[in-house]
Amino acid sequence: MTEFTRRNLLTMIGATAGSTAMYHAMTSMGYAAPSDYSGPIKLDGDPQGAKVLVLGAGLAGLTAAYEMRAAGYEVEVLEFREKVGGRCWTLRSGDSFTELGGATQNVDFAEGNYINPGPWRLPHDHHAVLDYCKRLKVPLEPFIQLNYNSYLHKSDAFDGKPQRLRHIKSDYRGHVSELLAKGINQGDLDKLVSSDDREVLIESLRSFGALNEQNEYVKSLETSVYRGYGKQPGGGVGAEPEASDLLDPQQIVQSRLWEYLATHETVDHQAPMFQPVGGMDGIARGFEREVGDLITYNAKVVSLQQDENGVTVTWENTSDGGTQTSTADYCVCTIPFSVLGQIDHNLSGGLADTISTMYYNGSTKWGLEFKRRFWEEDENIYGGISYTDQAISQISYPSTGYLSDGPGVLLGGYTWRGENSYKFNAMQPDERLEWALRQGEKIHPQYREEFKTGVSVAWHKVPWVLGCSGVWENRENYDEAVKIDNRVVCAGEHLSYLPAWQEGAILSSLDAISRLHDKVING
Ligand SMILES: Cc1cc2nc3c(=O)[nH]c(=O)nc-3n(C[C@H](O)[C@H](O)[C@H](O)COP(=O)(O)OP(=O)(O)OC[C@H]3O[C@@H](n4cnc5c(N)ncnc54)[C@H](O)[C@@H]3O)c2cc1C
Repeated sequence: MTEFTRRNLLTMIGATAGSTAMYHAMTSMGYAAPSDYSGPIKLDGDPQGAKVLVLGAGLAGLTAAYEMRAAGYEVEVLEFREKVGGRCWTLRSGDSFTELGGATQNVDFAEGNYINPGPWRLPHDHHAVLDYCKRLKVPLEPFIQLNYNSYLHKSDAFDGKPQRLRHIKSDYRGHVSELLAKGINQGDLDKLVSSDDREVLIESLRSFGALNEQNEYVKSLETSVYRGYGKQPGGGVGAEPEASDLLDPQQIVQSRLWEYLATHETVDHQAPMFQPVGGMDGIARGFEREVGDLITYNAKVVSLQQDENGVTVTWENTSDGGTQTSTADYCVCTIPFSVLGQIDHNLSGGLADTISTMYYNGSTKWGLEFKRRFWEEDENIYGGISYTDQAISQISYPSTGYLSDGPGVLLGGYTWRGENSYKFNAMQPDERLEWALRQGEKIHPQYREEFKTGVSVAWHKVPWVLGCSGVWENRENYDEAVKIDNRVVCAGEHLSYLPAWQEGAILSSLDAISRLHDKVING
């Protein structure tokens, strides 16, 4: 058996915490790979007036249009919707949204309030998105992912009473540190940890877990520094703070609330995270300022054909019902495969196979507007996320407009994959809203009294994407699917190792257009 050095014991502790983190990363995002973006793309060489048709004006399509025009191509963009951005979308007062099945929701939030029904946060290591925000002058502000004052809730733990994340985190860490510190001098651990390491390791656990000299995690002013005081320190008479009571260690372990702690630790969720000021569609609008003149809106592509001479795309004008064709030398197609699979095309090989077999996972998000920001006024929660084992999964508080009067909008739920997404697909908007209120009030009893209005988006019912993100069961066909098929190359989040992130859409697009450009220039 290898000797247990300080380094490998800490690695083991890391691995225990990390395995949960990894599980969350794998299940929620597919892969937790950081971005490999290394700076603006260089498309050298003159394409001599070659024309490119870009299908879809989400971030993949917008990136292609922006960079290919800059490289000297003639670019035409066809977009199904009446606006840019695709999933990079923000709902505000006056917006309306009709889902599959025909239900229309009219958003009547107060002026300035909004919800991002799709992307809502930007990791610090998504270098391409951040670089485009800088180049397109899209102002960013911090997105609060981890708030120690938010709640963790499981229906059958602590009598269904939500617990502050701070209490679970501090007490879990303290109790585990105590166990480990005591265990180091006993039994197997004693054999595993070298005597050199033992003392300093125990010292580190005392620091890490706020243990006392006897290596115990106990009610004290020292532990209250981390978990909060019973009575806060003040000024003047009677200002002395009082220590807070600890949670019962067994109850913490049994509650499984610790499952939520690692969520914030994956590299894509570590602080700092960002959001565009005023709504995620700020990024789409930034691109629109540059390439808006190239885009035809309300253009629903119904056929994509290519031959040795070029590409022909047939599209319906959804405003007047007319049918038109556009032609070009090449095509960058960013239409999600969930939709492209239903379009007449003559793409071939592994690409065609993937288009016809890729399925999209579901997700539902709610924006709920309340008469006042009770989470701030009553509960001192400024941004961040509360987690629950109920179907709504989480509640997130706005990372902007702190302490302002008047109505505020919070994210009333965000389901990710799995049965909860299907559950809400099957409901009409009114029913979905009622579920969000019924479950949310278990965390915040103020819900009913303060509720004003709400909107929800079930992504399987969004007509222009039919899901949240593309799922690769395995990546057998991946290399074939990303290849240029004669004159057409496909791009989008679904053709990246960062699925369900805007970074994946941009990186996929940059890779696709650099290969296409190489083909145009070098044959
Ligand atoms: C619920 C949710 C949460 C997310 N959270 C985050 C997050 O926090 N951070 C993050 O970075 N990313 C997040 N994402 C992922 C991100 O939104 C996507 O990865 C990215 O926006 C996809 O860009 P795209 O260009 O590949 O596709 P899209 O944005 O879908 O663009 C495709 C475009 O094609 C158009 N189109 C479709 N059919 C046709 C047709 N027949 N003819 C013409 N045009 C057509 C569509 O209208 C659309 O504009 C989230 C996504 C969802 C749904």
